[in-house]
Parts: sequence; structure tokens; C-alpha cells
Amino acid sequence: MALQWIHAYYGKAHPIWLNVLKQASLVVRKNMKAKEYIETAGVSMDEIVNWEKFSIKTMYLRLKSTFQKMPWKKLICNNGGLPKWTFILILAAQRSLLTRDRLAKWGITDETVCPLCTVENESIEHLFFSCSFSTSVWSNILSWQGLNRPALGWQEELKTASDYAKGNSADAVIYKMSIAACVHQIWQERNLRIFQHQSRPATPIIRMIIQEVVGKGAIQKKLSRKLSELNFYP
Ligand SMILES: [Zn+2]
Repeated sequence: MALQWIHAYYGKAHPIWLNVLKQASLVVRKNMKAKEYIETAGVSMDEIVNWEKFSIKTMYLRLKSTFQKMPWKKLICNNGGLPKWTFILILAAQRSLLTRDRLAKWGITDETVCPLCTVENESIEHLFFSCSFSTSVWSNILSWQGLNRPALGWQEELKTASDYAKGNSADAVIYKMSIAACVHQIWQERNLRIFQHQSRPATPIIRMIIQEVVGKGAIQKKLSRKLSELNFYP
């Protein structure tokens, strides 16, 4: 099931990573998943050792409060973008995308350089949006929406997008869809470069993001007017 999930969503996942998963027994994989939940809940192993008995209820409440604190929850729940956009956005917000810094930490790869700029090391923070390539893409998408500000760091962008998510205006809906489409396209471009050794310049990616957002949003009456006011090809 885990392998089917990875094939479905990652498509071109690194073969070594798949081998690691294939070779791991069900018990090992369950243990890895349990450790992930425990860490997400902010519970240390020392704390668990000192518990007189393990309580599912306590873990549930700790996890529940952790998820409630996630400021980007509304950004995901109220996002009118395609499911494939929000799926990658969730993984990016949860820091679950298999970026090269994580793979290197696990000993799966020695390659740490970002395939987009080929200068800095690849991490979530770098890809969204410290990288010169992705910064150029996102800055243009901001400018297309009439927002003339530089790209911010990943946490600041998530916070800004989450603040937008509280509103339901055409501007807010387009903003939420745009960041989801942008994160998805940047992740696609990154995978294209790593797994297919192909690359696209920033301009066609920017146009594709805009076309995707316009294509998805124009069918909504509330958005169609606002979208028609924006320059289709910046
Ligand atoms: Zn880069």
C-alpha cells in the first residue's frame, strides 16, 4: 500500500529510496510511522519512557492540538486549486517532501545541490523561495496579481498565505490557488531536472502557472471578472 501511494504521487521516486522501503519489514515501517507521529505530537522518547502507561487519548489530544496550531490549515482546506496542487502544498507545509537535504541525512544520496539554481543546497526553505530560480517564478506570480513585493522565506510565505486564507474575496482565492499552483510547478520542475534530465526556463513555467490558475478559476463567476482584469502573459 505504501509503495502504491509513493508510485501514485511521486511517480519518479528515487529507485534507492524505493528499495529501502521494499526491504523494510512491515514492523520497521510501522515503527518509523509511529516515531513520526510521536515527533509530530511534540512528545520526546524520554517523556514516553516516564509515562506509567501509554495513553492513546493523550497522544490524540497532543496531536490534535498540534494540528490546530498549524496556521496553514485554512490555506489547504479552503483552497480552490486542483487536488494535485494542494497535495504538494500540504507536503511542503508539513516539510514532508523528499528534498535532497533529507535524503542525504538518511544516507540515500550524496547529491545535495539544488537542481534549479545548481548553487545552494536543496531544502524546503531553499526551494520555497530562497532559490534564485523559484524566487523569480514566485515574484512574477505575485506581480501578476498586482502584488509588488519580494518573495519571502517559506514560513513567512505560509503565514502570509494563511492570513489571506481567512478572507474569501476574489483576490484571496486567487492568491491561495496561485501559491498552490506555484509550489506544485516548482516541485514538478525539480523532479523533471532530477529524474528526466530536462529543464524549462522560468518564463514558460510562470505562464503555465497563470494559465492553470485562470483555467481553474475562470469557471467561478466570482473569480472570472477579477482574472479577466489581470494580464494573461506578464
Ligand atoms: Zn536553488
